[in-house]
Amino acid sequence: MAHRIVTLPGDGIGPEIMAPAVDLLSRLGEFELQEHPFGGASIDLYGTALTGETLAACRSADAVLLAAVGGPKWDSTDPGAPRPEQGLFGVREGLGLFANLRPVRPLPALYDASPLRRERIEGTDLLVVRELIGGIYFGERTRTADAASDLCTYTRAEIERIARVAFEAASSRVASVDKANVMETSRLWREVVSEVHAREFAHIELEHVLVDNAAMQLVSQPTRFEVILTENLFGDILSDEAAMLTGSIGMLPSASLGGDGPGLFEPVHGSAPDIAGQGAANPLAMFLSVALMLRHGLSLEDEAAAVESAVDGALAAGLRTRDLGGEAGTAEATRAVLDRLG
Ligand code: NAD
Repeated sequence: MAHRIVTLPGDGIGPEIMAPAVDLLSRLGEFELQEHPFGGASIDLYGTALTGETLAACRSADAVLLAAVGGPKWDSTDPGAPRPEQGLFGVREGLGLFANLRPVRPLPALYDASPLRRERIEGTDLLVVRELIGGIYFGERTRTADAASDLCTYTRAEIERIARVAFEAASSRVASVDKANVMETSRLWREVVSEVHAREFAHIELEHVLVDNAAMQLVSQPTRFEVILTENLFGDILSDEAAMLTGSIGMLPSASLGGDGPGLFEPVHGSAPDIAGQGAANPLAMFLSVALMLRHGLSLEDEAAAVESAVDGALAAGLRTRDLGGEAGTAEATRAVLDRLG
């Protein structure tokens, strides 16, 4: 049976990069696609960024592919006005997406676009697995005139499920990042990750790294990491730090996974209203998000690898969109990649 994918083009350059992604999928096999308005586009039609119908469609799909939302049209100082980003939070929460995956794989053709020296990043191929719906971002907060607090809580079950995602994604090693020399949640984190490892994934090498050390090593020796497993706050910071290794925001894909339900796959960048409608958007982060969907959402590893190698090949042959310092538009970039898929 064809895999069922809900597509959410959203706003700005969103529809401009979703259309090439749909073309890409049609080259790879039989997929049943269902498009829904999302974000600002949904606000215009229905007064809300995510309708119940769209969320229900996402829940019953095999995977959800999202482009980007937002734009000046929906910016408002009225706190009661609907906002496009509410769609993002709504779908993440509605699908119970507790794991955020960000691969960092600087492409050889773009080594010189990175702020780091070529010899530092050469051969880097790592994945940050971040816990997304627990920890300090979701704890109880207090505030008086002179003091404030944010509570960081993790349960054994929350740590076990994210640890499994990381071990399953690894082929040889996982670095679990915490602050176990100071924080109690980190000591529980370390204990539970070690237990899951010993019980279910003893064939994978596990090391525990303190977050300050990890931050340093990410820029001094990024090739030593394969999968980095970490909690919400540390993952937020480390995934942005790691992202800088690749050079351009137009190149970064991400995946968010839930339990047994569908995952959500999207580029890291936003709706780029400054270039919307010009045919100038770089579709490569979207294509790499499709690759993540194929690999982590639909278990189609061969198709995922084919997309990644088509993107690598196009860049190696000289493809450069404007954000990468070149002249190519969306259509040309799409052609360059699709031609390599045969
Ligand atoms: P942005 O990522 O949209 O743009 C930042 C810069 O990068 C812009 O100069 C833009 O032209 C460029 N850029 C981004 N993606 C590109 C691509 N594919 N090709 C070429 N250039 C690209 O971030 P922003 O300007 O801060 O936000 C714009 C809107 O997007 C806002 O409404 C924001 O809320 C929203 N946003 C949405 C998401 C999302 O949907 N997940 C993420 C971030 C921002």
